[in-house]
Amino acid sequence: MKKDVRSFAAGMSALMMLAAAGGSYVVAPGDTLSQIAEEHGTTAAALAEANGIANPNQIYIGQELVIPGSDTYLVQPGDTLESIAGKTGTTVAVLAEANGITDPHLLYVGTQLRLTEPEHTFEPVTGPAPTYVVQPGDTLSEIAARYETTVSNLVELNRIADPDLVRAGASLITDAPGWLCPVEGAAFFNDWGFPRSGGRFHEGNDLFAPAGTPVVAPVGGLLSQVAGSIGGYQFDLEGDDGHLYVGSHLDAFGEDGSVQAGDVIGYVGDSGNARGARPHLHFEIHPDGEHPVNPYPTLAEACGTG
Ligand SMILES: [Zn+2]
Repeated sequence: MKKDVRSFAAGMSALMMLAAAGGSYVVAPGDTLSQIAEEHGTTAAALAEANGIANPNQIYIGQELVIPGSDTYLVQPGDTLESIAGKTGTTVAVLAEANGITDPHLLYVGTQLRLTEPEHTFEPVTGPAPTYVVQPGDTLSEIAARYETTVSNLVELNRIADPDLVRAGASLITDAPGWLCPVEGAAFFNDWGFPRSGGRFHEGNDLFAPAGTPVVAPVGGLLSQVAGSIGGYQFDLEGDDGHLYVGSHLDAFGEDGSVQAGDVIGYVGDSGNARGARPHLHFEIHPDGEHPVNPYPTLAEACGTG
């Protein structure tokens, strides 16, 4: 077992070695305890304590360290969800749920899996907006009352210019639509947790589509446009549903400020560190604005399975 981890690690890039197997780490040349601690979000003192290390300056290449409180696992060749559950003391169901795994036979080596379900959960409502066909004699306030909403809400949802001029036979949206696919027709798969440069892990899914494909707001909310060297042209959407949505590598921005579900907020591209790569929208969901969760189950439901 130990031997497998080491021979595997020896053949991997420095990046992969830094991440090591979940719950443990095999010391590589040049490592220091404080640097290993930093990579794993812990302290040198905690590592020393957990491994009975008297002198923090004395660690050995090939030494296997227990990482206290580790809540991730790096998928190794030959792993199955069952074997990972056994090794890490959890269950297949928890692993599948925590990592958005819809097909337990589809595991990718090098993926960083979460061992516990995230603190903040995300369960969007999907589906089309409910509608009502205006009958002769209807008024907006009657319709609003019937659907337990407000006239101003109906006006906004339907972009009604004059509330006194609503024709019989018109189809009115009575509530916001369910969660919308940000890039209709995009190709994607469950690439959450894939290794990225600088020891980072992929904290979203990539939605691949031709450059210039419109990106729409999955929910209404407040949109901010951001530009950075990694994300390129990026948006932060503070959803009316209380969750934060982040998208990056846009070619161009669309609407900003207050947006409704379905508004075009940008266009797929390759800006930032995706320059020259296959154009895609890197997309993240941060429930309650906190740490991101795997958007795959949500995207699969709203967009189809890519
Ligand atoms: Zn990405």
